Formats: sequence, C-alpha cells, structure tokens
Amino acid sequence: MTMDYRLEQKRSLRTDVPGPRSAALAARRENVVGAGVASAQPFYVQDADGGILVDVDGNAFIDLGSGIAVTSVGASDAAVVGGVREQAGHFTHTCFLVSPYEGYVAVCEALAELTPGRHAKKAVLLNSGAEAVENAVKVARIATGRSAVVAFDHAFHGRTNLTMALTAKNAPYKGGDGTTFGPFAPEIYRAPMSYPFREENPEITGAQAAERAIRMMESQIGGHGIAAIIIEPVQGEGGFIVPAPGFLPRLAEYAREQGIVFIADEVQTGFCRTGAWFASEHEGIVPDLITVAKGMAGGLPLAGVVGRAELLDAVHGGGLGGTYGGNPVACAAALGAFGTMREADLNGRARRIEEIARPRLEALAAETGVVGDVRGRGAMLALEFVTPGGTEPDAEIVKRIIAGCRAEGVVILSAGTYGNVIRLLPPLVIGEDLLAEALDVLAAVTRAAAGALTAG
Ligand SMILES: *Cc1c(COP(=O)(O)O)cnc(C)c1O
Repeated sequence: MTMDYRLEQKRSLRTDVPGPRSAALAARRENVVGAGVASAQPFYVQDADGGILVDVDGNAFIDLGSGIAVTSVGASDAAVVGGVREQAGHFTHTCFLVSPYEGYVAVCEALAELTPGRHAKKAVLLNSGAEAVENAVKVARIATGRSAVVAFDHAFHGRTNLTMALTAKNAPYKGGDGTTFGPFAPEIYRAPMSYPFREENPEITGAQAAERAIRMMESQIGGHGIAAIIIEPVQGEGGFIVPAPGFLPRLAEYAREQGIVFIADEVQTGFCRTGAWFASEHEGIVPDLITVAKGMAGGLPLAGVVGRAELLDAVHGGGLGGTYGGNPVACAAALGAFGTMREADLNGRARRIEEIARPRLEALAAETGVVGDVRGRGAMLALEFVTPGGTEPDAEIVKRIIAGCRAEGVVILSAGTYGNVIRLLPPLVIGEDLLAEALDVLAAVTRAAAGALTAG
C-alpha cells in the first residue's frame, strides 16, 4: 500500500537531543508548568505526519508511540485536518446539551455500527478516556441498581478519582513516595488477572483463571451485588497483557448469568489498533458497554460509551453529558479518522505491522536473553524485560533502551506494573521501511544494553 505523506518520512538528527530550542522551551516550562505533569521525551514538537515527529531543532524522529495509541491515522491525517478546518469555519461549539448538531449523531451511529454485536446500541460522547469510564460505571449502577464494581490486577482506567480507584498501580497514578491522592471512590474490588507470563502455574487455562476471579467475586461481594465488571481486553499501561484464551469469554458469561454489566475498556485497544475494530472481537465477546477514546478522533479530545440501548436508556435525561462532550470539531475529526481507517484498511495495516515486527522481536528475545516475553496483538506489541535468564522485572534496562533509542532518533514508550515493558504503538500509517528501520535501532540498542549487563 502506498500512502501520501506531507512530511518526508526520514529519520535525521541535527543536534543532540534535546537541542537548544527544546532546552529553551524546557526552561520556560520549568517556571510555569506544574511538576505533576511529566513528559517522557525532552524534545518539543514542531510538526508530525505519518511515522515522523519533527522537533523545534529540526530533528526528525520515528514515532513508535502515536502519543499513546492516539494518532493511529497519523498526527495530521488529511481527512481529519479537512474535517476540522471545515467544521471550525462554521461553529466550534454550541454544547450538545443546549443546541444539538449532526456530527454528534453521526459519530454515535458509527460507534453503534463498528462495535461488536448486532443488537440495538446507543452511545454518549465525552472528552477523555477516564470520563468515558466514569460514565460507563454511572450507567451500569443506574441500570442495575447495584454499586460494586470489579476491576483487575494491572488495570489502568484513568486519573480521575473513580478511575484512580479502578487503576491497580499505585505510583505514580494513585500517589507518590509516601503520599496519596486518596481517599478513593468506594465499592471497588480487585480481581486476579490472567497474566500468562507471570502465572505461578504456567498450565492454568484462561477459563480456570476466570474461575479464580469469579471465586474472589463470589466470596467478597456475591454476583447479585455487582453492578459492573470492567476490563481492558488487552491491558495497556499494565504492560500489554493478553489474557489466556477463554478468560474473557468466561467472565462475560458469568456477567450475563448474574445480571452484571460487562464493560470492555477499549480506550487503548479500540479503532484498528489490534488488527480489528475492537480487541473484544479476537475473543468473540460482545461487551454490554465499551469505552472508547484514544485512537478515535485523530488526536482531538473525544471519547464515548457505546453499548446496549436499554442500558444507555436506563439513565434519566440530564444524568449524563457535559459542557464539551462530543464537541463538533472533535466529532468532525472522528468522522474523518473513521474514513481513513476504512479507506486505508488500518485493520490490515495493524496486522501487517505485527507480521513484520513480531518475528524480529522474538528473534531479539532469543538472542539477548533479557526479554522474558514478547506479546500483544496487531500494532500493540510489547517486550517484557527480565534479569538474564530469570523472571525478575528489569526496569533499569528499559530506561536505558528508551534513552538509547531517543539518541538514535526513535521514540519508544515504556509500560508495565513493574516499569519493565517496552511497548510499540506505531501510527498504523507508518511506512514499512521506516518501521523496519526503527526496529533495527531498537534491536541494536537492546543488544548493546544486554551486552553491557552480561559484560559487567
Ligand atoms: C488511557 C486510558 C484511559 C484514560 O484515558 P484518558 O483520556 O487519559 O483519560 C482509560 N482506560 C484505558 C484502557 C487507557 O489506556
């Protein structure tokens, strides 16, 4: 497939990273930006397109992060930009709660069509992934009249009060060293995840891991007290953990038996990222509600909850929404992005990225001995780093590899409860040669870091 790019798709470094202009911006930032907002990369972006990020010093990086799985269609996709320009020229806001407009309705139609299941579906639009999760839980509680919500080990659902409670990892999300953002929202329960690489019994099946979680739910709450089970079909921040086959279907079945709302948090996995419109499809599950955000609108802030019409309709008028939710410019961006996803077959592109990358990552793991697990789906792939030959998490080598890749002009993100995972989330429109080049850099940097370990 050939893509048209606005920027030359070429990695090139002109200065050290950060260069002088980025350093000057960092100094200004020091004075005015709160320390709680940290950036993984020290360079400031000037332009971005396809698989390339250009910084203010003219350095061009290969992007393997997509701004955390957001710019799947690229950071300046023509259909997104065109939609935004057109809509902004007419009106930028009315508030859908005051005077509605077509774009909001059209995005909800698309969500109903693209998500799994042919039952009647409805949707509401919000601003962020966390807000989508908050609203899914509100819907589940009203619809069931129950309050308990079950989330899983290694889960990430956001940074608001309720979603911090749902998130598993303490630092940095729920507090810092000896500090806390709590008290957290009550009536949240944590169930054991299926994490094949770290199971004590490596033989445990997905269905058995689900029974383990169900036993916990039954003993601590009882099925009839549970409003919702929320789970990422492939965990994102937790380290791209793919549960064993059968885990998700058994949980969904248990939820159905008990009248529990099954929420798939597809904020990171949605919209072609895993080689399907939604990751739930890989396991043939049909969630009652799906939360969406990240990849949805080509970078503009837009999120949603989509699912069974009777659940969305259980909420009284005025119970959901917000000033900005479903902003018309963001909706125009989403409609443009959906068009690109279809026309450029980004599901096929995500599968192709896996086809190219996975064998190379597996070879790298075999060669270096510091990667315990290669996993993921589609263009959502991860390497879990461990002590050579062992299973102890190694977060230090991940930091060194990310810094090493940056110095070579490749942007890579970390993840994982133990900070020991490198995750690849390239824009789905990245060219194959550029992707291969970035993987060469990652391999060389990883070899060097692993070699330094065994040497010393
Ligand atoms: C990123 C993420 C969120 C939170 O989204 P924000 O837009 O940052 O609020 C929630 N759930 C999952 C699975 C995510 O990856």
